[in-house]
Formats: sequence, C-alpha cells, structure tokens
Amino acid sequence: MTKTFMPRVETQKELKKLQLAGLKWTVGHAYHGSPSYRAKLDEAGVGPESIRTLEDLERLPFTSAGDLREEYPFPLLSVPFEDVVRMHASSGTTGKRKVLCYTQKDIDDWTHFFARCYEMAQLAAEDRVQLAVGYGIWTAGISFQMGCEAYGAMAVPAGPGNLDMQCQFLMDFQSTVMCCTASMGLLMAEEVNRRGIKDKIRLRKMIFGSERSSDAMRNRIKDLLGLDHLFDIPGMTELYGPGTGLDCIHHTGIHYWADYYILEILAPETLAPVPEGETGEMVVTTLTKEAVPLIRYRTRDLTRLIPGQCQCGSVLPRHDRILGRSDDMIIFRAVNIYPGQVDHVLSGIRGIGSEYQIILDRKEDGRDYMTLKVERDHGVQNDRDPELTKKIGEEIKKQILVSATVELLGYGSLPRSERKSRRVFDNREQ
Ligand code: ZN
Repeated sequence: MTKTFMPRVETQKELKKLQLAGLKWTVGHAYHGSPSYRAKLDEAGVGPESIRTLEDLERLPFTSAGDLREEYPFPLLSVPFEDVVRMHASSGTTGKRKVLCYTQKDIDDWTHFFARCYEMAQLAAEDRVQLAVGYGIWTAGISFQMGCEAYGAMAVPAGPGNLDMQCQFLMDFQSTVMCCTASMGLLMAEEVNRRGIKDKIRLRKMIFGSERSSDAMRNRIKDLLGLDHLFDIPGMTELYGPGTGLDCIHHTGIHYWADYYILEILAPETLAPVPEGETGEMVVTTLTKEAVPLIRYRTRDLTRLIPGQCQCGSVLPRHDRILGRSDDMIIFRAVNIYPGQVDHVLSGIRGIGSEYQIILDRKEDGRDYMTLKVERDHGVQNDRDPELTKKIGEEIKKQILVSATVELLGYGSLPRSERKSRRVFDNREQ
C-alpha cells in the first residue's frame, strides 16, 4: 500500500501557513454563509478581513453547545440546503440532541482523515477490522467503515453488543483489529477468556472510541487478549465525528489533525490559554468544514497538549487522552476533582481492578463524604483488603488532596456496560 493519508506538509512552518489559509477561509465562509455567525462576528467587531495572522484567532468570539441548541435542528448552517448531503445527531444525553449537517466535501474530508487513523495505527490492506460500534444516526459506524474502506482494509460491520456474535466473528472471520468502546473491549476480553477461545482468534489491535479508559483497564484488556496495541480515537459529532486523531505506535499521546482544525487549550473559568502541557478545555476551530464550520467551539473536554516532538517524527502535534469533561467536574470539600484523576490514581496501584465508582453523600453533620468502591484484581483474595484499602486512601489523599472511604469488592461485582459506564453517583442535595 503506497497511498498515504498523512498531511502534505513537513514542517511546523508549513503547517501554520496551511492553518492560516484555512482560518481565513473559514471566517469568510461562516460570515457570508450563516446569518448567526455574521451577527456574532459583527458583535465582536471582527470580520474576514481581520484575520492576518494565526494570533488573530484570539479575537474571534466563542461558539458553544448552546448555539447549537438554539438553532435546533439545523444550527450554524453555512451553505445552502441543496449542498447538504447528510446529517448526524449526537445521542443527546443533556438537553436536545446536537444535529450537524455535512456537504459531500465534508464527508470526503472526514473519510480521508479517518483513513489516516488506520494508517497511524499501521494497519495493512490484509487487516480485517471488526467494527463493534454504533450504526445509525450517530457518527460512529459509518465513519469507522468509510475510513476503513478508503484505507483499503476489510471492514466487518458487526455493530455494538451481542458478545456471542462478536466472538463468532472473531473466530470465523479471523478479525485482526477491533473498534469499540473501552467498556465493550473489557467485556470482549473477559468473554474470550471465559470461553477459552484466545488461541482460536487472531486479534492484534483494538481502537477505542468515545470513552475515558484507565491504564489498569487497558492493561487488563491487552493481557487477556494478547494484543500488540491499543489506540485511542477521539471525536465528537460537532467536529465531524470520530477520527480526528490517533496515537501512533509509540503511544506518547494522540496525534491530532492540525491540518483540519486548530486546537486551543484554555482555562475553563477564564478562557485564557493555559501554559503548554497544562490541563484545560479543548477549543476547536475548523479549517475546511463547509456545512457547519466551527469557530472557537468550546468542547467542554479536558486535556493537555504534549510538548516536544514524538519519536515517530510526525509533524502532527499531540494532545493527551481526554481527562474528563469540564461539566463532570466534582466539587468536593472545595476541591475540584475530575473523574479522570481517580482513574489515574487507581491505575498506579497493583492488586486492584479497573472498575470503580465514586459515591458522594452529605451526612447529618452537614459535611460531604466520598466513598470509593473499587474491585480487587482478578485472583486477589480479600485478606489483602486492609493493605489495599490503606494504599488507595493514601494515594487519593496524596494526589487529589481529599479523603475517601475505600470499599473493596470482588472482581466483576461492579456493573459493566457495552456503552459508557456510569462511575459518579452524587447523592448530595443540590
Ligand atoms: Zn508519534
């Protein structure tokens, strides 16, 4: 396979030049195509002619999920309706669904950079990719498949769930790659182990989408299935869908497609840039998106940029895994906590599993209490409970600066789901 989907630029300077051209185009396109963008830009006193350097990005107004909801069902549309060829919607867990339109060029661009994900993961044309992701109005199924086919590997469009069928497909079709959520990956790994079919399958890589996953969970999946690589694929409906980046085989962060969008990392409270390497909210501006361009869209996802260059030599910059949502932030005894931080602490402790729950209660004394339910690792007996409980409590105190009551449970006793598992239970009166 000689075709490449990587960017044509080779240096940061060339990349920035490409970004500036894309930014100028986007602001002009949105200004002339969408009355609401025009009103927003006019109000901020900036127009297409205001963009002379990349620093001028900071002069542009923000866009938010609220803007998308206000114009439901077809928000921020910047092309005539006759140019729209498809729509997708988010699963809409909070408020109304987010609905986004696509032109044919948007679909082509998305397919192109999704194929880049498979190239980044070093798939070959011979690879068989079992797509255990959701098909339908959502962005996942169709985009995972379009990218796979454009890349030239074989798609096995299995859809989510149905572990029995998934195992059958792994054996019969000898799938080498599986795309799913991390929760589904863990269920699959445990099912393959339970059935004793590891020697009958040929799975080598997994690509995880749309969910945070702890290192402990990832290591368990990798061990149970004997995988070579696990990759993280970020994505959101507003920004095309999944496939907007991938970690390379060195796994030192997610390379993101800076030739398709500009990523800013800003402090959620002040919206000022955070120092390089520090955690903040991802704010994205698209460079070629036609139907619904995004100008400084506040994603609410938290991550950080990873400084320096990756050893793979790619010109594409990196961000860390998604640490959580700025909306998911828990305020507990005046400390800001993101569930991702608890993931991180638990991942560093041997003898415990990957599943956990955070339970917050307000007791009669008026104070807030945190209980952390954690599973013992597979094969770990309860005689180690005192030692493990103490260790977890100490690490939480040391790294997150709060006290928690730790409860250890048997392996497999916390609920698993094929979709996103709920891990925070806040019982405090609001
Ligand atoms: Zn790399």
